[in-house]
Amino acid sequence: MAVSSDQNIKSNIEITGKILSEISKLAEHGFGKGTVADYISSLGKVNPNQYGLAVVYRNGDIVEAGNSGTRFSIQSVSKLFTLTLAMRLVGPELWTRVHRNPSMDRFNSVSDLENNNGIPGNPFVNAGAIVVSDAIASRSAAPNRIVLDFMRTLSGQNDLYVDQQVALDEAETGHRNFALAYLLKDYGNISNKVDDVLSLYFRHCAIEMSCTELAQAALYLANDGVDPKSGQRIVSAEETRELNALLVTSGMYNSSGEFAFRVGLPAKSGVSGGILAIVPQRMAICVWSPELDTNGNSVVGQLILEYLTQKLGISVF
Ligand code: GLU
Repeated sequence: MAVSSDQNIKSNIEITGKILSEISKLAEHGFGKGTVADYISSLGKVNPNQYGLAVVYRNGDIVEAGNSGTRFSIQSVSKLFTLTLAMRLVGPELWTRVHRNPSMDRFNSVSDLENNNGIPGNPFVNAGAIVVSDAIASRSAAPNRIVLDFMRTLSGQNDLYVDQQVALDEAETGHRNFALAYLLKDYGNISNKVDDVLSLYFRHCAIEMSCTELAQAALYLANDGVDPKSGQRIVSAEETRELNALLVTSGMYNSSGEFAFRVGLPAKSGVSGGILAIVPQRMAICVWSPELDTNGNSVVGQLILEYLTQKLGISVF
């Protein structure tokens, strides 16, 4: 049995032209059923009726559909990578500053943080990601470069950049993030200056990447912590398991449970409409389509992932 399941793991699951044409129909059907996030003004200007899909297998094979090469603002998808970086830099001590439980409050809830004495519920709610940014800032001589450099290394794309306009727009309307950061500071859960920590946070949310680049960057999570492209160990196998567990429980905002029920993959979503999902031991999948449901997750992205996981039988459950 070990032999046959191992072979199964190594072989790519075929995504046929028929499946891809079904996906394109699903997308057409889903357009117009959600709302583009516009609280960060530059995000509201993106054409809503588009989608991208990239499936990158551990052996490097790629299947793409739609606008898979179009770069978009990665927003909260970046939190998966900053958490990875903080786990590398800080180690288990990080968990004294942020919990690991799903939150039923909004991702930018101030009361949730207050009720938990300044310890964020998990690293993917905004307060948690701000603590993670602070932890990175404390361990790096060049905090404003370290996340971008990490993303360039993981994706293999040296021309990745921060969209300065998006970062500025975030700072202009990010009143809640300022409120969260000052509250964290008051609780002693931020060491650096609030402005510096938020600048790092806004900048990593404003990195532009395509579906293909994001799926390439996340392959280590489908490969026990080793990037199969370079052979470089990014995190331990144990940390990979922990990251994937956190993605299942908290990666999809308040509907992480619903997403586990419908799709059943570790995944991280962002307000620009990206969803990055991991099929452990097999592949990374990124979908993007800007219109969101009321929980902040891409409508079309979820439809595609639901169809794909069911069709290919790749749910982890
Ligand atoms: N930069 C966004 C914010 O802080 C990220 C939101 C998200 O994608 O969840 O509001």
